[in-house]
Amino acid sequence: MTAIRGRLRGYYGVPAPHPHGAAIDEVVLTVLSQNTNDRNRDIAYTRLIERFPTWEAVRDAPVEELEAAIAPGGISKVKSARIKAILEQIAEHGEGRLDLDWLAVAPLSEARDYLCALPGIGRKTAACVLLFAFGRPDIPVDTHVGRVGTRLGLFRPGAGFEEMHDTMLAIAPAGLEYETHVNMIRHGRRLCDARRPQCGECPLLRLCPEGEARRAG
Ligand code: SF4
Repeated sequence: MTAIRGRLRGYYGVPAPHPHGAAIDEVVLTVLSQNTNDRNRDIAYTRLIERFPTWEAVRDAPVEELEAAIAPGGISKVKSARIKAILEQIAEHGEGRLDLDWLAVAPLSEARDYLCALPGIGRKTAACVLLFAFGRPDIPVDTHVGRVGTRLGLFRPGAGFEEMHDTMLAIAPAGLEYETHVNMIRHGRRLCDARRPQCGECPLLRLCPEGEARRAG
């Protein structure tokens, strides 16, 4: 993994993490991103925060109003109910307060388990919140990271996302989780395309069983 990380760094540079501290925003954004593209997710998110000025207002709103606000993001009936349920559960844990700041300092496994117990939240979202909101050492495995890692032979063939998360955490250089995540996504978007990987231009070719097999074939 050290060699892969080094070559990705040489090709894509070193992305700088900017932990934003807005954990609830990150959770809501992830719910809105389900089954849609980034553009429609962002439209739905913008409409939601324009219509409701605080997360407390979202929590207390009739679900039909949430559904109408986020309609451009698709499956709004499911997403509105999920967002409301998540906010209610966060408030219940915080004795009425919508606060996830404690995740910044809680033991990592406790923070992850808490997030994964929220309605409809899995390892990827939990990792996004921990890494992007608080700069904590976790690595979201999305479709790009999963595909690139599988082609590179980092994951066991047939491994599920849960296992891929555990593997990434075990092999990523400590302290470089953000860089590892971002550069694998960049690679999946720019060269290691799902249908047409550009193996001939790839800086990882000599480290990649899939790329070598494609070149030989
Ligand atoms: Fe992807 Fe090909 Fe590079 Fe392997 S050599 S990482 S399959 S682009």
